[in-house]
Amino acid sequence: MSQHFDVVVIGAGPAGYVAAIRAAQLGLKTACVDAYVGKDGKPALGGTCLNVGCIPSKALLDSSKQFHNLTHNFAVHGISASNPTIDVGAMIGRKDKIVKQFTGGITMLFKSNKVTPVAGFATLKPGRVVSVKAADGSVSELTATNVIIAAGSVPIELPFAKFDNKNIVDNAGALDFASTPKRLGVIGAGVIGLELGSVWKRLGAEVTIIEALPDFLAAADQDIAKAAAREFKKQGLDIRLGAKLSKAEVKGDEVHLAYTDAKGEQSLVVDKLLVAVGRRAGTQGLLAEGTGVQLDERGRVVVDDHCWTGVEGVWAIGDCVRGPMLAHKGSEEGIAVAELIAGKAGHVNLDTVPWVIYTEPEVAWVGKTEEQCKAEGIPYKTGSFPFAAVGRAVAMNETAGMVKVIAHAETDRLLGVHMVGACVSEMVHEAVVAMEFKGSAEDLARICHAHPTLSEAVHEAALAVDKRAIHKAN
Ligand code: FAD
Ligand code: NAD
Repeated sequence: MSQHFDVVVIGAGPAGYVAAIRAAQLGLKTACVDAYVGKDGKPALGGTCLNVGCIPSKALLDSSKQFHNLTHNFAVHGISASNPTIDVGAMIGRKDKIVKQFTGGITMLFKSNKVTPVAGFATLKPGRVVSVKAADGSVSELTATNVIIAAGSVPIELPFAKFDNKNIVDNAGALDFASTPKRLGVIGAGVIGLELGSVWKRLGAEVTIIEALPDFLAAADQDIAKAAAREFKKQGLDIRLGAKLSKAEVKGDEVHLAYTDAKGEQSLVVDKLLVAVGRRAGTQGLLAEGTGVQLDERGRVVVDDHCWTGVEGVWAIGDCVRGPMLAHKGSEEGIAVAELIAGKAGHVNLDTVPWVIYTEPEVAWVGKTEEQCKAEGIPYKTGSFPFAAVGRAVAMNETAGMVKVIAHAETDRLLGVHMVGACVSEMVHEAVVAMEFKGSAEDLARICHAHPTLSEAVHEAALAVDKRAIHKAN
């Protein structure tokens, strides 16, 4: 006999597990089905984010940053150490421990909130029947008044550079190298390529990133992208733009690459190749015939503004639907859908979802870029301020980068705030709050900012929109 739930969530990533917890908090009888198996072969909650995404990548970024600071940045403070070394095994072990702490944490949260975890691969059948195939091949069925699909995403594989998880790896592989590769090739100068490329570069790898597009970080404001590119170049990241890969052949312990760029045919030999060319919705095998749930041309579940699929009681959230593939976006959708199911108001404003790239310097933004404003014919004005003129940044020896504020030319309403610099992953939220409250550049300019802080760059950039920055010429 099948067990009935008010809510069955498919997927326990940051979209699904958050939806399940919120639904249970609201008094709904909730189950969460997840197929992920961790490094130890046991079910592990938390999806991509906790197992092979946000959390482990940030753990390695932090370890490698400490090492890089010790080897490159401490001398200016008068600190020196002779022959510092990095124990990659210990670094990976620390990362694994953090992953286990957090995936185990979700198990505890499910327990305390009375969410029933179900391990196995779920297929949605018509009538909100969820069939679950466990690792041992046994099949069980759950029925639900509401199903929330949170199936997440998987890495895109290139046909001529297939993952062998030894020499040609995806994000999971690049988070688990046993030692620092001498030569690391990365396909795709996107978020994963830059973050994981930075990790291994800081530990001594020669890192070459091959990017198909002619513009660097095309989704970011191009002033910010250019400033970031200058810093990455100084760090020795070799980023080759407008380069189209045609071959990646494993020969012994090497990967031989062929690509074409503006100069013609090029070749490159690396020891490891990370392919990070984007992710696609993880919807394969998810839907049985006749559910009525539609997939778009990219395999994403089609939903409306409220994450409803158009089929009674079936919702979808996170990476497997439209919008940015970001953990916090999925979590907010999870909360909104659980609240809608419980008869409350629930909404996610995709226009104010912050983006962060955790390189050094960090890149962060919310809202429209200058390029988007131009393309959409929106009249705008901008103000920017460099960290080099911020006292705290100079005291920290973190002078790279700037803040740029874009406001509507007539109403002064904030359209976008863009940052590259130290700690901007934390600073961006001031702009998110201001934009959620429909604030103007004038609002940011009139808010008292503590001195000396990095956030003074936001204050000065907002003042600069009206050509009245205090600590630079306007
Ligand atoms: P997922 O986290 O992918 O979880 C989906 C879960 O559903 C998985 O456990 C999967 O096994 C399970 N599942 C799928 N289909 C089924 C099925 N049919 N039956 C049962 N279970 C199923 N985002 C950020 O915001 N910040 C970051 O710093 C960041 N860093 C990242 C670093 C890397 C290396 C990567 C790869 C991604 C990173 N992301 C980051 C993106 C972030 O991980 C995703 O946006 C987020 O995990 C999406 O959450 P989700 O719940 O939609 O899906
Ligand atoms: P991405 O979309 O960020 O970048 C992929 C890059 O690969 C793009 O620049 C694209 O032009 C390039 N590309 C595509 N095909 C190519 C080819 N054949 N040859 C060379 N270049 C090619 O994707 P990603 O880095 O794989 O990350 C996937 C998603 O995961 C991101 O979009 C993001 O949503 C999420 N993520 C977020 C964070 C974060 O928030 N800090 C970190 C990692 C991942």
